[in-house]
Amino acid sequence: MDEVFDVIVIGGGAAAASAAMTLKNRNRSCAVISNRIETTSLYKAELITNYPGLPPMGGAEMAELFRRQTEEAGAKMITGRAISAVSMGDMFGVAVGSDYYMGRALIIAAGITRENLYPGESEFLGKGVSYCATCDGMLYRGRTVAVVGNAEEADADADFLRGIGCNVLVFKENGKYEIKGADKADTLVFKGEEYKTDCIFIIKDTVSVTALLQGLEYDKGGIKVDRNMRTNIPGVFAAGDCTGKPFQLAKAAGEGNVAALSACDYLN
Ligand SMILES: Cc1cc2nc3c(=O)[nH]c(=O)nc-3n(C[C@H](O)[C@H](O)[C@H](O)COP(=O)(O)OP(=O)(O)OC[C@H]3O[C@@H](n4cnc5c(N)ncnc54)[C@H](O)[C@@H]3O)c2cc1C
Repeated sequence: MDEVFDVIVIGGGAAAASAAMTLKNRNRSCAVISNRIETTSLYKAELITNYPGLPPMGGAEMAELFRRQTEEAGAKMITGRAISAVSMGDMFGVAVGSDYYMGRALIIAAGITRENLYPGESEFLGKGVSYCATCDGMLYRGRTVAVVGNAEEADADADFLRGIGCNVLVFKENGKYEIKGADKADTLVFKGEEYKTDCIFIIKDTVSVTALLQGLEYDKGGIKVDRNMRTNIPGVFAAGDCTGKPFQLAKAAGEGNVAALSACDYLN
């Protein structure tokens, strides 16, 4: 069996960095699965002046610092988009493209998803809607597929799908997409036009947490947590912007720390 981590952290911002460093202090193995650093909120901040212990500095610089500290602490860094997480009794499996990682506990530190789900996206996920061309592309060889999204990997995924013989429709524009079908998605609607497809690949930088892990409870738009950052699912903790306002760095780092300590208690 592949390595099983004590904790898998999904996210790569302040909350994830703080969680990973605390886990390593507690001698726990952890994998941090995250998109590119440029996707963190922190990276976009011009100047941070309210984070204790650090002088005023640009968000990108601070984000690099957090990532370097996390690596130096010994966390296994996996750059990629977690597309689904599933509970398997006393373990969690997290899919990143066609790779799979196992952990005994999960910390979600995925920030806020600014992109809303398209109508039909969640309903048809796995039924004609996919987040991963590498995983599902082969199923649609010789058929018509749509690639929706302007994330960096969307072009590469469209090329890959063409290369395996799919007829690929590419939609890069932001806007209101709708996915329709009966048992399976078969139509993409954009700007009043209907496009018939066998599969719709949605390639965004982030996956909405609702689609990432089924069964989580929410409160005021954030993942519902108690003071120990426990969610309603045993073994799953959440920290940072994804738990709700205020969207602030110090809060994200503090919650990451608490989530890690609670995950340690859970593992004990
Ligand atoms: C322009 C701007 C200025 C700001 N200024 C300040 C300030 O001055 N002071 C302050 O305190 N706060 C400020 N903030 C807010 C602060 O940056 C955030 O509150 C904080 O960075 C949140 O950290 P986080 O770890 O929760 O999330 P994020 O930094 O958003 O990190 C989440 C990471 O998880 C990744 N991710 C999400 N889903 C997945 C997935 N499925 N698979 C893999 N990775 C995934 C995301 O791509 C992202 O990299 C500012 C924010 C912005 C946008």
